[in-house]
Amino acid sequence: MLGSAMSVSSGVSSIRRVAIFGGTHGNELTGVFLVKHWLKHAGEIARSGMEVRPFITNPNAVEKCVRYVDTDLNRVFDNQGLGLQNKVKIPYEITRAQEINSIFGPKGSKDAYDVILDLHNTTSKMGATLILEDSNDDFTIQMFHYIQKSMAPVHCSVLLIEHPKVKYATTRSIAKHPVGKLDKLQHTVRKHRYCDYVVLVY
Ligand SMILES: [Zn+2]
Repeated sequence: MLGSAMSVSSGVSSIRRVAIFGGTHGNELTGVFLVKHWLKHAGEIARSGMEVRPFITNPNAVEKCVRYVDTDLNRVFDNQGLGLQNKVKIPYEITRAQEINSIFGPKGSKDAYDVILDLHNTTSKMGATLILEDSNDDFTIQMFHYIQKSMAPVHCSVLLIEHPKVKYATTRSIAKHPVGKLDKLQHTVRKHRYCDYVVLVY
């Protein structure tokens, strides 16, 4: 996936800026460990023609080893959270979301990072699972297919979430191509021309 700057036809511009998020939920330690590792060993994820930036998204929750301090960081990247002004005491994660949006966004703008991989853990028996937020995002679906082939024979599922309340408020959602993982089990399988994915049942 990160071999070099990627571009695909059909109107998708080159992928130049990639962020890897860990610690969105401070007690999910794989992402915390990996991001801290890559902050010290940047050469492992460096690729020519591309910025790859590891980032701890919720450092206060990571320090306490809790999911969040005031509110779930992975649910506040909507217009309400990102636009909240300092009239009342703002929850820590909303202040943090606004900082993250200013660094990696602004969400929905041409300046937003191209890809954000947000690393989570789950206690569900899912194995490695990639989360897709938009079934029309052909670039990300093809990238997932590449990741699945690269990981084989280890199985890697793809989970589609298109529930708007989740889709528009996740930490990774500020990227043009968000990639993440979510802790859900009920699903059905849907066929796609590049890779099959499972769809959440709400
Ligand atoms: Zn999580």
